[in-house]
Amino acid sequence: MTPCIGQFHSPLIAQQSTGHYTNSSNRFHVYVIGGGPAGSATALSMIKHMTQVGSDQLTVHVVTGPVSSKTAIGETVPPIADHHLHQLGLAPLDHTDHLPCPGSLSVWGQDQPGYNDFSLTPIGQGHHLNRKLFNASLLDAAEAQGAAVMEGAKLLAMRPDGDGYELTLESGGEVCQQHADFVVDATGIQAKVARSLGVARNQYDAVISCCHVFPLNQSKPSASKGSHTLVAAVEQGWWYGTELPKQKALISFCTDKQTLKKGSYQNGSQWMQLLQSSGWFYQQCTERMGIIPEPESLALRVSPSAILSNVIGPRWLAVGDAACSYDSMTSAGITKALEQGLLAGEAIVKRLFDDDAAAMAHYQDRVFAGFNEYLNLHQTLYRSERRFPKSAFWYNRRFQKL
Ligand SMILES: Cc1cc2nc3c(=O)[nH]c(=O)nc-3n(C[C@H](O)[C@H](O)[C@H](O)COP(=O)(O)OP(=O)(O)OC[C@H]3O[C@@H](n4cnc5c(N)ncnc54)[C@H](O)[C@@H]3O)c2cc1C
Repeated sequence: MTPCIGQFHSPLIAQQSTGHYTNSSNRFHVYVIGGGPAGSATALSMIKHMTQVGSDQLTVHVVTGPVSSKTAIGETVPPIADHHLHQLGLAPLDHTDHLPCPGSLSVWGQDQPGYNDFSLTPIGQGHHLNRKLFNASLLDAAEAQGAAVMEGAKLLAMRPDGDGYELTLESGGEVCQQHADFVVDATGIQAKVARSLGVARNQYDAVISCCHVFPLNQSKPSASKGSHTLVAAVEQGWWYGTELPKQKALISFCTDKQTLKKGSYQNGSQWMQLLQSSGWFYQQCTERMGIIPEPESLALRVSPSAILSNVIGPRWLAVGDAACSYDSMTSAGITKALEQGLLAGEAIVKRLFDDDAAAMAHYQDRVFAGFNEYLNLHQTLYRSERRFPKSAFWYNRRFQKL
């Protein structure tokens, strides 16, 4: 993080081509690279807006990326997620597949626990997602609406080819070239498309989560009802714990690279010792989740606070974590992916079919405004924890020595 975060401004509007986008046929081929929530939402939004303008001259391709055997992490969504799903033409989250989440219970900045409940908002309730199922259902919906889904396919490289890009894709060991009239970067924090085009990604912070997912004790009745996410700040960073659908639970320790290395918290027994010394948090976890098994291995995930210098350009646009990513503390990444996907799909259709370059610039402004709001929240939250004056983790975040 730079000493003065300030506001993130768009340097790009002047670079945005205002010309007419042409192609050799009457049909535009848009390639969405990445099959996470942002990619699926963008595909669904494009199809929706095409239907609204009564045109069928668009083929949306979704290149999902390799099928991953890694545990899907990132699971809590606030009530507004249902609103975005509705805007995409999808059903609200149901309680057979996902658990209701009333909000969070945290010890942060003070020794007394405090509730932060979604019930204070008038728009329904939050959820702990079955993340694999959630991602798959969005992708299925995009396919059902007419997107050509290339499951397991991966973008290897791309280069400009006159009126778009030549993409080199790989699927099942086979490599092929495809022409794209427009490319959407939905590859998550890798931002593969933007990086291939040489667009800088500005990183302000990067918190690493050491995640333990384990089966819940079947006799725990609370497991099926869902419950508050537990959050607690400790000297070395912060913890969060949550029950998950299918009788599972997740406990995660979040810290920075230096603290992680110093304490070896990626090691299961060191992690467990730290958890057991966390006082209120450990007690709450055991009350709700029963016996917590010592992890044999932990899933390490990074959540950078980062944004691209430009999230739009000639015949491309970035969405979701590829455009900008937030600290996992906010539980906002999935909702942001859905919201940006909605906006991005509309902007692309306007750009391709109405020659509306301003729609793209408007999209970028919205992404930058959202990121500036997020940076303020990041500062407010990390600066409100003053109980650990000797901790490098908290000192660096309070005084932005990152
Ligand atoms: C520890 C942790 C906890 C989190 N907790 C929460 C939470 O509680 N709530 C919340 O809302 N968010 C949470 N998040 C954030 C959330 O998971 C992300 O913001 C969200 O997944 C972003 O969606 P996306 O579609 O932009 O990217 P991703 O979900 O990362 O999807 C990117 C897709 O691109 C594909 N891809 C990558 N490279 C290529 C390529 N070369 N070719 C083709 N495809 C490619 C990948 O396979 C993947 O399918 C958490 C994140 C972390 C790290």
